[in-house]
Amino acid sequence: MKNYFALGAFLYFCCTFPAQSEGYDVLRHKMVEEVLADIAAEVSYSESSALSPSVVAAMQKVERHLFVPASQTMRAYFNRPLPIGYGQTISQPLIVAMMTDLMQVKDSDKILEIGTGSGYQAAVLAEIVKSVYSIEIIHPLGKQAAERLKSLGYDNVEVRLGDGYYGWPEAAPFDAIIVTAAANHVPPPLLKQLKPGGRMLIPLGMHFMTQYLMLVEKKMDGSVTSRQILPVRFVPFTRKH
Ligand code: SAH
Repeated sequence: MKNYFALGAFLYFCCTFPAQSEGYDVLRHKMVEEVLADIAAEVSYSESSALSPSVVAAMQKVERHLFVPASQTMRAYFNRPLPIGYGQTISQPLIVAMMTDLMQVKDSDKILEIGTGSGYQAAVLAEIVKSVYSIEIIHPLGKQAAERLKSLGYDNVEVRLGDGYYGWPEAAPFDAIIVTAAANHVPPPLLKQLKPGGRMLIPLGMHFMTQYLMLVEKKMDGSVTSRQILPVRFVPFTRKH
């Protein structure tokens, strides 16, 4: 009888552990397929109907199940936003992929992110670019994300706790800036810290009302243009009082 238990335990460990991580790989692959299909159907969101290969590779690589609370692990590869505590969410994979693609980042780039949250978007960017600076206003979330990114080996991501409205002047200028919380205007300090020729992605609009993902471009002569990409729903950009 005892031996059956031992054999059972052995088989459980041998079979479930590899199968589980393989299972996540399969689920992640399916998630990326879904994202690609959604983007192909949304041709109008940008000039292209496909993600750049570097964005696809990053989405394939980053293990989203390691960025969500244990209670959400089973849903980690659904193409959906998920709660991460403190009333905040990890963005929908489709939105992460689109925003990363629209930033048109290169491997030599230095990026600023406002709203670290789980650290997932920062990790996707860190797979592609040289360095990511990310600011989170909710201290426990930022601290947890910083530890998570460090333990996963993302040495090219720096997390700061504080109000991202003012950006990160010591590390500026940035090749691109991504804001992952909905603001009611483009913070002037962020625009100032964007390099000429750089792009900023920011959701604009009020909470519970229609928000639009905006693409803000700073031309080489310093002039700024912006255009609406698509309606979105993000948690609010908050301020310290
Ligand atoms: N990029 C995140 C998504 C986080 S949701 C991810 O991949 O998981 C948006 C985050 O923005 C929340 O964690 C929220 O606390 C943060 N946030 C809101 N206002 C902010 C501000 N003024 N400065 C920095 N972070 C802010």
